[in-house]
Amino acid sequence: MSEKFKIGTRAVQGGYSPKSGDPRVASIVQSTSYKYDTFDEVANVAAVSADVTALNKQGGYLYTRVGNPTVTALEKKYVELQGGVEAIATASGQSAVVYSIINIANSGDQIIANSNLYGGTYNLFNTIIPKLGINVSFVDPTASEEEILEAATENTKLIFGETIGNPGLNVLDFDKFSSVAKKLDIPFIVDNTIATPYLINPFEYGANIVVHSTTKYSDGHAVSLGGIIIDGGNFNWANGKFPDYTTPTGPYNVIFVNEFGKRAFSGKLRTNLVEEFGAAPAPFNAFLTNMGLETLHLRMERHSYNALNLAKYLSNHPKIQWVRYPYLEWDPEYERAEKYLNGGASGILTFGVKGGIEAAKTLGENLKLASIVVNLGDVRTYVIHPASTTHLALSEEQQREAGVTPELIRVSVGIEDIEDIIADFQQALDRV
Ligand code: PLP
Repeated sequence: MSEKFKIGTRAVQGGYSPKSGDPRVASIVQSTSYKYDTFDEVANVAAVSADVTALNKQGGYLYTRVGNPTVTALEKKYVELQGGVEAIATASGQSAVVYSIINIANSGDQIIANSNLYGGTYNLFNTIIPKLGINVSFVDPTASEEEILEAATENTKLIFGETIGNPGLNVLDFDKFSSVAKKLDIPFIVDNTIATPYLINPFEYGANIVVHSTTKYSDGHAVSLGGIIIDGGNFNWANGKFPDYTTPTGPYNVIFVNEFGKRAFSGKLRTNLVEEFGAAPAPFNAFLTNMGLETLHLRMERHSYNALNLAKYLSNHPKIQWVRYPYLEWDPEYERAEKYLNGGASGILTFGVKGGIEAAKTLGENLKLASIVVNLGDVRTYVIHPASTTHLALSEEQQREAGVTPELIRVSVGIEDIEDIIADFQQALDRV
């Protein structure tokens, strides 16, 4: 599709252009395997796939771990929505985050991460990635440019942050973090799960790689796990810091910057990690995610509208201690939210009830429309207590670094009618 189309049109129609007589909708190709008439034909497809220069010219499909037409349609739609040169879908958001890191950093390297992260990513960086020999330095989102630079070593290979921290709700200071990344000449990776391509295009603010858990707002209906990695095609991997990109690497002994040019990152990811690590998305999940994305623009507007209105309601309630939502004018993140986000701050808000966690439990357990669910980004409204669930593995100090206080309740505000959502919180608060 042409870039002249606005994001809603690209959400609905992008990624799949049927020819005459083709199914109108990108269909589910629920097959692990692809049939050929002769050994020579399949050998030719395999050779074209192995000949990485031709990989994206389409050698045909061989095996669904490596490629599948339904997954391709999802990847193409994501490039339409988020920009960049190529998107690679994975089985989960978590595998997308892992791939984005290990496609760049090796044992002996270091990475810098904003501390205000989803609990799973924090755990990954705090305990698993170091086991691979990759050292992780966490920096506070409010750290100055100088402080972030001080956290770097000569082996620092990337900087990582979330557009809207889950559930710290800090809005990433793109200018600051991208400026540090440029000074260090390393890529800037952004997890854009909560903001989605509708609220921001991180590539316009200096990101080089964008990752998403598509399980959240992209799917939007809590039916399919998935992740995606988008290559901005805007980083120079031949700057001397990334020998895996400039010397023969991987099963096909490829010099990625030579073979793939602007797509060096995604070329390496596809031919090494997708093929050999194997966290492939299920075609059915790709189909459902694709369908979810068709209404992304409508849902994100409504999620943002509902979250702002629930945040305002809770702010005025006498039993509520505090409320955080980046689009509240008095929120500490408001200025950055206005600067970077497209008219809304997504569907996540947090609050504390007077009386602490015990009072919050009474509130949560008396909600009738909203339910207690650990997921977020669904059309239905959810509440959760992150300190005892998503961020359970973190110490209290680490939780505070990640923006989680003991009494914090996270609401993933759905797209039901806001009057009904507010009435539900009202009746539950009456019982506190
Ligand atoms: N990134 C963020 C911001 C998340 O909130 C999550 C999950 O909650 C993930 C990544 C991991 O995604 P998944 O659950 O799809 O593996």
